[in-house]
Amino acid sequence: MMTTGHAPNCRFCATPLTHTFVDLGKTPLANSYLADVGADAPPEPVFDLHARVCPSCLLVQVDDSVPPDEIFSDYAYFSSYSDSWVAHARSYAEAMRKRFALGANSLVVEIASNDGYLLQHFVAAGVPVLGIEPAANVAAKAVAKGVPTDVAFFGEETARRLRAQGVAADLMAANNVLAHVPGILDFVTGFKVLLKPEAVATFEFPHVLNLVRDVQFDTIYHEHFSYLSLVAVEKVLAEAGLRAFDAERLATHGGSLRLFVAHRDSGHKESEALRSVRADEHGAMLDRIDGYQAFAPRVEEVRRQFLAFLAEARASGKTVAAYGAAAKGNTFLNYCGVGTDDIVCVFDRSAEKQGRFLPGSRLPIRAPGDITSVRPDYLVILPWNIAEEVKAKNAGIADWGGRFVTAIPTLEISAP
Ligand SMILES: [Zn+2]
Repeated sequence: MMTTGHAPNCRFCATPLTHTFVDLGKTPLANSYLADVGADAPPEPVFDLHARVCPSCLLVQVDDSVPPDEIFSDYAYFSSYSDSWVAHARSYAEAMRKRFALGANSLVVEIASNDGYLLQHFVAAGVPVLGIEPAANVAAKAVAKGVPTDVAFFGEETARRLRAQGVAADLMAANNVLAHVPGILDFVTGFKVLLKPEAVATFEFPHVLNLVRDVQFDTIYHEHFSYLSLVAVEKVLAEAGLRAFDAERLATHGGSLRLFVAHRDSGHKESEALRSVRADEHGAMLDRIDGYQAFAPRVEEVRRQFLAFLAEARASGKTVAAYGAAAKGNTFLNYCGVGTDDIVCVFDRSAEKQGRFLPGSRLPIRAPGDITSVRPDYLVILPWNIAEEVKAKNAGIADWGGRFVTAIPTLEISAP
């Protein structure tokens, strides 16, 4: 599984990345939905989607193959859109306020604070906050809600500028941003600069342990630079003069970790929960390079099973449609090389996406209500994380004998 040809260097420790985790080929950006696929429409640009694992620090990462101005164009996409995410933010704010006794003399700083979806709950409880958000239009929404926001990309330089202005944090939050930053050490060093001596930072990220165990290769996309293990994150933290002292396991994004981090020489005691995550990673061999080598063949097997299913459906004249026009579906369909010959359309609730086309596969996106006119024999559910919800909402396909299909971690066909 050594990679031939020129290998890039690790984005954290600069070791040459000689080991492939999985190579998903050339694919368009996962969130670049197309308005037109007519004969005159230009082909969508494609970029290598190649995940590698560093043989030294074990950070799983994708190559930098996309120009930065392309990659951040969809940044506002992470807006506070879903009810469950808003509820997650509220319960986080309440738990942190109680656990760390935050009050009117504290300061909570959130990185990539978006439209203030999280900090607003601290504001409501009388705790001073500062958001840091690179998108000026999104930051303006936060300010309008009463959430002070500094418009900047976060890293050591931004942290030093704020520190010079007197900013020092009691709690810093970085939820689902660590995996998206290209320079992970510079980013984490910013926390070292802004945290008060006994202050705490929390980092939430999808846990690579779940990605490996459940073959969640469709969570790999260009905008998502790193796939994080505790073992790799602890190396980054140590380099920045920080350490983790506690961990929580979360159900979000197919299984996430929330790490509690403090200065290396702070008084926070290491928890049993943190040691348990370390032990799990050791058990899955994620603390050595061997644990990452079996992944790519398992991904190939998912594709083999899915293509065999499509071939059989086509041979027997069945209609196949898909559900869920999200990023992970695009990674999956493009890796499998699927197009409109195999799947007639994809249904999605987002009115902004309806009438458009998926990048690469070019499946037309239709409203869920259209399912009764398409009458698919098989409905392929792309977002496996909400499969049960999708099945419940589309139980009506039973009227014409329709069945549900999920492809990850293994192909499953079920009746409503
Ligand atoms: Zn490395």
